[in-house]
Amino acid sequence: MPDLDLLLRGGTVVTPTDLQALDIGIADGKIVALEAGLTASSKEEIDARHLHIFPGVIDAHVHFNEPGRTEWEGFETGTRALADGGCTTFFDMPLNAHPTTVDAASFDLKLEAAKASSLVDFAFWGGLVPDNLDHLEELAERGVIGFKAFMSNSGIEDFASVDDHVLREGMKRAARLKKIVAVHAESDTITRYLAQKKLHDGRTTIRDYLDSRPIEAELDAIERAVALAGETGCALHIVHVSCGEGIELVGVAQKRGVNVTCETCPHYLVLTEDDMLELGAVAKCAPPLRPAEARELLWQKLGAGQVNTVGSDHSPAPREMKLDENFFKVWGGISGAQHTLPLLLTEGHFKRGVDLPLISRLLSVNVAGRFDLPSRKGQIKVGADADLALVDLSAEFRVEYQDLFYRHRQSPYMGRTLRGPVARTILRGRTVFKDGKIVAKPLGQLVQPEMLKP
Ligand SMILES: [Zn+2]
Repeated sequence: MPDLDLLLRGGTVVTPTDLQALDIGIADGKIVALEAGLTASSKEEIDARHLHIFPGVIDAHVHFNEPGRTEWEGFETGTRALADGGCTTFFDMPLNAHPTTVDAASFDLKLEAAKASSLVDFAFWGGLVPDNLDHLEELAERGVIGFKAFMSNSGIEDFASVDDHVLREGMKRAARLKKIVAVHAESDTITRYLAQKKLHDGRTTIRDYLDSRPIEAELDAIERAVALAGETGCALHIVHVSCGEGIELVGVAQKRGVNVTCETCPHYLVLTEDDMLELGAVAKCAPPLRPAEARELLWQKLGAGQVNTVGSDHSPAPREMKLDENFFKVWGGISGAQHTLPLLLTEGHFKRGVDLPLISRLLSVNVAGRFDLPSRKGQIKVGADADLALVDLSAEFRVEYQDLFYRHRQSPYMGRTLRGPVARTILRGRTVFKDGKIVAKPLGQLVQPEMLKP
């Protein structure tokens, strides 16, 4: 046994299958020992007897908008919020940076920015857009997690949506490169038609917006994406599925042998369309929030193990972009990255009896497995990076304006009391967040899928 840098004594370790009282020994950023009653000398020891120790959250879905739109968020403030929530690795989406991440040059620009100011580890999604098919290979060589495409308008002018033809071509290439394709699945035909009809009739309220993006539009797109994945043999990940029916479609396809997984987000599990009607712009997202029955069906599917991952889809914007009278013109995107874990603990574990290992699988080990980081990330095991979230399940906190780390302090959860605050976040053995404060300089490194070479 090497001399330890850090020893966590007596915490309740959340494994993928159960809870175990174990000591964790850490040296050189890695977990080197995991056993009860560990005898070893260590430079630092933490009494964790009252804490649950989760593997660091891996948020596979954030929009930090850097470089180019750093005034919307940026890696510095975005990753502070993540560290507060026990997150140690995130995957940034390709579309809100400027330039968008659609080729090697734009990947390199983003890498430079993230290295300079990210507090936690990171990976990047590459874009799949109509004019970058010939750049997918260079993005794969850079180590992108996969390729993200929009099946409906992305809201960002320089990130065009794909039609079924481009999506098929992109999936064929991604399959050859052994890369996953993630889609925003809403039917462009349906959402565009309904939105134009509303606008033509001068109807621009929150209710009108909700009605323009029905569940059917989501199901239609999921079915087409799944069919293309089956046809091309491409691995597919449906991001931000908002309803149980969507999860069901993915489950049916999995049974048929299609390589497809799905993500949902805390806001679909916690909020309903009534919250969007009441809170307005701060709760606008696409697909939109759904009625309470749909939310409960989503929890049922999650409890049954049919949801594969939960990501925040943190998508912030300056306040002035949230002010239009016309709700269709308000920037859509919820700021949520800071509270993913406490939201799932409060609404899932404490309110609905979801067990802690399942919550941890959705936030960590399933993400690492699906996106090819299985030996380093996602699980508390010997040999893995010492990425840990120490959580006090006996405590609670109120979501307050002054405690938000976002550049623009907006949250649809403001004023809510959440259970299970993160007491400490550890990245590769170093404490980055403790008792409400950021206590480290940016240490984040690029994480690359393990089977990097196609
Ligand atoms: Zn998103």
